[in-house]
Amino acid sequence: MSLSFDRSASLIAEAANTIAGGVNSNFRIGMAGGPLVFKRGEGPYLLDVNGNWLIDYYCGMGAMILGHSPKGVQQAVKDQVDKGILYAGQSEIEFEAAKILCERIPSAQRIRFGSSGSEVAQAAFRLARAATGKRVILKFEGHYHGWFDNILWSTAPAQNAAGPEEAPVLVPGSVGQDAMDAAGLDVIGWNNLAWLEARLAKGDVAGVIMEPAMCNQGAIAPAPGYLEGALAACRKHGAILIFDEVITGFRLGRQGAQARFGVTPDLSIFAKAMANGFPVAAIVGRADLLDLFASGGVLHGGTFNAQPVTMAAMVATQQSLVPEDFEAASARGVRLRDGIAQILHEAGHKAQVTGFELMFHVGFGLEAPARNYRDLLKSDKPMYVKFAHALLKRGVRVLERGAWFVSLAHDDGVIDATLDAVRGASKEIN
Ligand code: PMP
Repeated sequence: MSLSFDRSASLIAEAANTIAGGVNSNFRIGMAGGPLVFKRGEGPYLLDVNGNWLIDYYCGMGAMILGHSPKGVQQAVKDQVDKGILYAGQSEIEFEAAKILCERIPSAQRIRFGSSGSEVAQAAFRLARAATGKRVILKFEGHYHGWFDNILWSTAPAQNAAGPEEAPVLVPGSVGQDAMDAAGLDVIGWNNLAWLEARLAKGDVAGVIMEPAMCNQGAIAPAPGYLEGALAACRKHGAILIFDEVITGFRLGRQGAQARFGVTPDLSIFAKAMANGFPVAAIVGRADLLDLFASGGVLHGGTFNAQPVTMAAMVATQQSLVPEDFEAASARGVRLRDGIAQILHEAGHKAQVTGFELMFHVGFGLEAPARNYRDLLKSDKPMYVKFAHALLKRGVRVLERGAWFVSLAHDDGVIDATLDAVRGASKEIN
């Protein structure tokens, strides 16, 4: 089987006369075979303009935890649209949404909603600085917390620009960023407590932000004791610990990675899977910190915050994420993950398939599972891109960076069809 995507290519070329590059996010440009144009999504499938039904492992970059077009979410959204779209005031549906999150997420004593992960990350930095009176936000190499100027640093730095592993330098993620943008930022390697302790000991860190499991690059669990140690170190040095659960939230567990790993941070941010594709984000955390928005002079705004239609989508998504469906999907995710590992091994490929149930990573050329970004730099990316393209020709759409997002709609038949495609692709790229 070799599918054609020529119709997408010609539509993108035409669209490039109006939309820069024919896409509305740079993360949609670099794909084997070119960016695709879709007509609809159903369950685990997307239909493109060539008429190809593709099994989708982008899942809206992780957002579509229930799969495409789940009936309950669709209906809730339609009902809310009939009642009104934006009130610029409060609604009962947002109170319900907030209650669900505060009951579900261990660290969520209080909450504020926003519209994107990038945006609520900014709210977290502001709170951390306001609460501590300190300046520096400390991040980790390979972790991504949005595309804004003050944080898009060292997300995927080239080896020759990144400095020594134990003392990395900040590398901008885009042309057009100024060194001044990083004046309140620093970076270290992840999953190493000694490096974190040493940096915090300087005493100037307001907040430490990390993905509690590193999922933008790779799919890497924290080393045993790392998250606990990070929390203790933050306490000791008066810094706020912020978990970025934009990917891990509702995917590594219905209650987030913080429940899975048993570590409760001061602040956390969520987005993506929270409302199954609707633009909802949240900052949650300690009441004394979030209440700085109410009475501490810390500003948080946003015209679209808690927009009722998105809140209805969020409530319906969370109600649909029932434990038994989540667990059944997790078991299928493990079957897929381990099946891919076995097929690649049998075909003679050196590859590491690592990560979790509903999100994992396939890295070619790695001798051992990666522990951090520097390990991932050793992976054979061109080989993975070839693999991704070979899968696409067989009707399976995966991200070129090696991440696989599985939804509750990926049933056993879909997993079997995917493993067949993996068998074919693994032979083709030999
Ligand atoms: N944090 C993480 C961990 C993410 O994966 C992303 C998006 N890929 C963001 C923050 C930014 O979220 P958004 O794209 O909604 O601004």
